[in-house]
Amino acid sequence: MRTNIPVVKAILQANEAVASENRTAFDAAGLLAVNLMSSPGAGKTSLILATVERLPDTLKVGVIEGDIASTLDAERIAARNIPVVQINTGGACHLDAPMIRSALPHLPLTALDLLFIENVGNLVCPAEFDLGAHLNIVIASVPEGHDKPYKYPGMFQKADGVVLNKADLLEILDFDLEAFRHGLRILRPDAPLFILSCRTGDGLETWIDWLMGQYRLRRERHGR
Ligand code: MG
Ligand code: ZN
Repeated sequence: MRTNIPVVKAILQANEAVASENRTAFDAAGLLAVNLMSSPGAGKTSLILATVERLPDTLKVGVIEGDIASTLDAERIAARNIPVVQINTGGACHLDAPMIRSALPHLPLTALDLLFIENVGNLVCPAEFDLGAHLNIVIASVPEGHDKPYKYPGMFQKADGVVLNKADLLEILDFDLEAFRHGLRILRPDAPLFILSCRTGDGLETWIDWLMGQYRLRRERHGR
């Protein structure tokens, strides 16, 4: 009997091709695309909302919301007058590049400066599927515990930046920040770690400064 490994590889290769088309479309539109990945409930939607609230008004933001079902998160985004497209994966536990491609015609791409892609809440397979985003951000949260980088190395290895959300609970919960930091450093010595709380707003400024820096870098790279 054959193994299914060649099949998986073919799917991933097809995904890579579409991901690079997506990236080309993002570059042509002059926007920065950011893929947000985390387990369910770590605060992807909250981070988008808290970030948009603090960005300069001149910066136009769009969102692609990935969920297995429902439009609950998309409704929270739309309530703030942010252009949003919902992708319901119909059971699939990750977004892939063709799903993103199918969402793009529904967004005013050239008018956008920043596109957040909220992946399906899952710390495993979203890491395997390049969406064409410029940045992969992994969000962990204090209630999940400090062992996440050790348990899900594949996800943290893909991170260009890591957010530790719900930091207001650090004093209450038994979270070993040094162990978390160490786990991350083994996998991604250079990835910045942003310790923040979307609820209180503490630490958001550093994250936003970094994100704006990434945005400006991208614009310069494309001569705008
Ligand atoms: Mg969400
Ligand atoms: Zn999956």
